[in-house]
Amino acid sequence: MNQTVRPQILASACPHDCPSTCALEVEVFGNNTIGRVRGAEDNAYTAGVICAKVARYAERVHHPDRLRQPLRRTGGKASGQFAPISWDDALDLVAEHFVRAEQAHGPKAIWPYLYAGTMGYVMRDGIHRLRHAKRYSGFFSTICVNPAWTGFIAGTGLLAGADPREMAKSDLVVIWGTNAVNTQVNVMTHATHARKERGAKIVAVDVYMNGTMRQADLPVLIRPGTDGALACAVMHCLFRDGKADWDYLERYTDAPRELAEHLRPRDPQWASRITGAPVETIEAFARLVGDNKRAYFRLGYGFSRSRNGAFNMHAASCIAAVTGAWRLEGGGAFHNNGGIFHLDTSLIEGTDMRDPSIRMLDQSRIGAILTGDEDALRGGPPVAAMLIQNTNPVAVAPDQETVKRGFAREDLFVCVHEQFMTDTAKVADVVLPATMFVEHDDFYTAGGSQYILLGPKLIEPPGECRSNHEVICALAKRLGAEHPGFAMTPRQLIDATLQKSGWGTLAELESKRWIDCQPDFATAHYLNGFAYPDGKFRFKPDWAEVPFRRWHRKHAVPSIPKLPDHWDVIEEADDEHPFRLATSPARGFLNSSFTETPTSRAREQRPTVMIHPDDAAALDVADGDEVMLGNRRGKVRLHATLFDGVRRGVLIAESLWPNSAYADGRGINTLTGADPVAPSGGAAFHDNKVWLRKPANSVQQART
Ligand code: SF4
Repeated sequence: MNQTVRPQILASACPHDCPSTCALEVEVFGNNTIGRVRGAEDNAYTAGVICAKVARYAERVHHPDRLRQPLRRTGGKASGQFAPISWDDALDLVAEHFVRAEQAHGPKAIWPYLYAGTMGYVMRDGIHRLRHAKRYSGFFSTICVNPAWTGFIAGTGLLAGADPREMAKSDLVVIWGTNAVNTQVNVMTHATHARKERGAKIVAVDVYMNGTMRQADLPVLIRPGTDGALACAVMHCLFRDGKADWDYLERYTDAPRELAEHLRPRDPQWASRITGAPVETIEAFARLVGDNKRAYFRLGYGFSRSRNGAFNMHAASCIAAVTGAWRLEGGGAFHNNGGIFHLDTSLIEGTDMRDPSIRMLDQSRIGAILTGDEDALRGGPPVAAMLIQNTNPVAVAPDQETVKRGFAREDLFVCVHEQFMTDTAKVADVVLPATMFVEHDDFYTAGGSQYILLGPKLIEPPGECRSNHEVICALAKRLGAEHPGFAMTPRQLIDATLQKSGWGTLAELESKRWIDCQPDFATAHYLNGFAYPDGKFRFKPDWAEVPFRRWHRKHAVPSIPKLPDHWDVIEEADDEHPFRLATSPARGFLNSSFTETPTSRAREQRPTVMIHPDDAAALDVADGDEVMLGNRRGKVRLHATLFDGVRRGVLIAESLWPNSAYADGRGINTLTGADPVAPSGGAAFHDNKVWLRKPANSVQQART
């Protein structure tokens, strides 16, 4: 009777929106239960280390609040009243509304909407197959990657860089604009390995003294949106001090002499005035880069979430080209490996049916789109019906008040396929229960490393949960959409996609667990030339022609400075809004996922904003006081945390809490703007000017 039940240990991959895409080992008990989740020791990037929130994934899978049956709204739009409904009735209802919307306005009135709740190709991207087959409006994905990817590719011509495992062989690891301790623990694994084994130094650049900054040998604390100035001053010092590799520059870069001349006045004093970082810190940073040619620049997403974010990403990526760090193992720059996988996803996405004349609607501008903004609708019909999978725009999209107004429209039909009753599910007409990654088959590529990984189905889903693929295929049948992909199982889609892409078969992937797609050293380090036709790294990119989503480029290209600089288009503080606010990621959450798990909630406690003690004192705000943040987009009520690890005038609100966690039901994205980041779009989540006040009716709890 006291026999211990031994679990099977089965291989999987983390499906979440995190660059690490860890290789996992999952304890499985029988057909329905998982236990602990661990990182695979023998995966060279995961190296046995994963974050705490995924280690306790059983909390999510077996959470009592999981959606388990389809629901239909029975009350008003914001009533939150739902009643159970059968799967057949739910899918019939969705199909009926889609047909009705099409009859009234044409197929473009239907907007399938998705994002990165799972990064699996089959479950994330199958929704595109439905929209191509039915000629529905396209989804232009902008929230996360556009500024960062455009900025990195502007220099190299390709989204790829030095092997991330080489960080362990560096003499200097620069972690720029990413709080790896919170968002991708594996970067710290490899960086600290270099420190232990080789005495390497770690530099971190960020806008607050977060976990990563605290672990750095040299933390460089700057104001949000000033990374371009810092990069310029570092390069100024490298040229000034004879640390530029002129042989490399002449051979591999486009305009080195023009750059050196341009940087002459952009010295540490100049940058210090803009960034707030002391001159000595900037000089120390430049000295470390100059004295350690084997320097690895790990450039994150965070600092690109600014109105000058793409431009700043490019500026930071230029430093490795000035020193010629790319020549050495453990040297160079890296942001993401999206350019190495060359997957043919046509069966999954139905791209063979794509009509490029059909409008693409900008994900970040969902508020403007749903409230009928003509520019956002690109001259087409209103959006009358939506299917939403893998995302929670009512909480995560910018300009939240407008988003909420859009979802409140009585003439908008919304179906949300979800795991929990999110802020978006609450305002849906039909809610469908979705599987989690251990309950379906899928495969993944790792943006932060070089693997293709398999995540097979390990257990049966609870209740009536169905996978995204099942829902898409069932709707396709009802709507008369045709494509071979609708008749295939997820495993067949994975197998065919791997084979079409030249990566072998599903059986091979299953036996190996992952495929290492790392290009050879010379390719990864661009020693045969960068990915532009002339093989040169671009200090002076033609922003209109950067080879990434060129077809959609229109935002402010003409005004982007030609060479790296401080491009002053950020939402600067002013008399009315004396603070700059960044909405950085909390350690316990991942976007709006994990906000439902008890240990994550216990760790994060409640929505807070970090404020410098001197700023707080000037406003008579004490630690723990309730405060109001506001700007022209709206107001948010949360609690102040006094923290001297921010520059004066800067506020940090780690998130992303559900809207219901805030006293007034208004989430942090009430304050963020949806105006597109140049040149390819994207949301400037860390670039907001706000005021801070104590609310007139607040109950101050922390003063004792
Ligand atoms: S570190 Fe990132 S990829 Fe790894 S388990 Fe955690 S969320 Fe997943």
